[in-house]
Amino acid sequence: MGKKLTKRAEDYSKWYNELVVKADLAEASGVRGCMVIKPYGFAIWEKMQAGLDKMFKETGHENAYFPLFIPKSYLSKEASHVEGFAKECAVVTHYRLKNGEDGEGVVVDPEARLEEELIVRPTSETIIWDTYRRWIQSYRDLPLLINQWANVVRWEMRTRLFLRTAEFLWQEGHTAHATEAEAIAEAEQMMHVYAEFAEEHMAVPVIKGLKTASERFAGAVETYCIEALMQDGKALQAGTSHFLGQNFAKAFDVKFANKEGKQEHVWATSWGVSTRLMGALIMTHSDDNGLVLPPKLAPIQVVIVPIYKGMEQLDAISEKVNPLVKELRAQGLSVKYDNRDTHKPGFKFNEYELKGVPVRIAIGQRDLENGTYEIARRDTLEKQTVAADAVVDTVKGLMTEIQENIYKKALDHRAAHITEVGDYDEFKKVLDEKGGFVSAHWDGTGETEEKIKEETKATIRCIPIDAAEEQGSCIYSGKPSNKKVLFAKAY
Ligand code: AMP
Repeated sequence: MGKKLTKRAEDYSKWYNELVVKADLAEASGVRGCMVIKPYGFAIWEKMQAGLDKMFKETGHENAYFPLFIPKSYLSKEASHVEGFAKECAVVTHYRLKNGEDGEGVVVDPEARLEEELIVRPTSETIIWDTYRRWIQSYRDLPLLINQWANVVRWEMRTRLFLRTAEFLWQEGHTAHATEAEAIAEAEQMMHVYAEFAEEHMAVPVIKGLKTASERFAGAVETYCIEALMQDGKALQAGTSHFLGQNFAKAFDVKFANKEGKQEHVWATSWGVSTRLMGALIMTHSDDNGLVLPPKLAPIQVVIVPIYKGMEQLDAISEKVNPLVKELRAQGLSVKYDNRDTHKPGFKFNEYELKGVPVRIAIGQRDLENGTYEIARRDTLEKQTVAADAVVDTVKGLMTEIQENIYKKALDHRAAHITEVGDYDEFKKVLDEKGGFVSAHWDGTGETEEKIKEETKATIRCIPIDAAEEQGSCIYSGKPSNKKVLFAKAY
């Protein structure tokens, strides 16, 4: 397994990169900015997908699939949308290769130029709204509540495993509604769904809020978001939900006949979370020993490691363990009995610690004689010896306890890193010395926001939805402000 992880306090960023690779989550590939997600990392992502997918379906959505390619003319139809995405689009110009001159290998066949270039989707509003024109005629066709699980490509210049990659996996919801109010309610609902998933499955506390105009999705009227705080005091946008007004319906001429038979443009939302959530999960809970996973998302929730000398002892241990594995599985737990003879228990302990398995059970010769097991929890690294007949209950209890404990730990960390400031000097001092969210009055202008960003690298993460009305003056311009917003340096 090689040398120890770099410590968080030494170099947080290095710690993260090492951890992602050493815990077998993902690695860089031969393609710039694109990662390989390894089986263990993908297993966590699949659990995330399953949890989210269930919540989407419970809120009335259905899955569908749309093409990877978008004709360039589609993308151009919504002016602010294309402007926002133009700088990061991968474009397909040709459809064939041919053998080149000597030593050249294969080359693009210049004769196979596409009549219309295709964009590899950076997001699918345009192709989907082009489709919705055919699907929607009357108020009876609404609402249309669709989600797709897909990959998208945004030509990011500075990439980071999971947090920001050129190709990433995500889900994108695209809904169509008869009224503005209904579309706004949908966009808000999905922000709440994301927050619930982050908090209850990932054990990551998030702040719900609105983006400022400059941070809004290109083509949106309003962007709702959930923002999380990482252990190094930087914020991470964990999910977004957009109210798109009638922008896409107008660009793609999607109208419906209302109850009075009059033609109206449809109202829209879109919302997405990506493999960035993996980054949020890793950065929120993990420690200097490796990954710490919430039981609800851990591919292996319980690992059992036998400690033995010789096959006879292993057989005796297995005789005890096999029925225990069955019992634990019957409780819906995912259990691995690691009886590999090729690795020592110490190696296995390290491996599962690094991989964040919530509960480890060890059984040796003495346990066998005493009818006990040693149970260790990953979050606190505490161990206890438990009688065989109490193991199942103990483990079940630990699943809930660990899930709650790591959430509470993250919540306490965040609470300790939201600082209210009254003036710009204090603002800069907090950002430099402590990090985290800084709550401050802002005059509501893009100019002030930009100046603060230039001078401090902090951006407005969101205007919290529950921000109290409070008269004050902007920390930068001194102009009046009626609520505080949250600033932070962010990933
Ligand atoms: P957007 O469509 O820009 O609102 O993004 C939807 C979701 O994808 C948000 O949760 C973003 O944080 C996430 N996201 C955006 N760009 C990337 C990227 N390059 N890599 C991973 N996730 C991303």
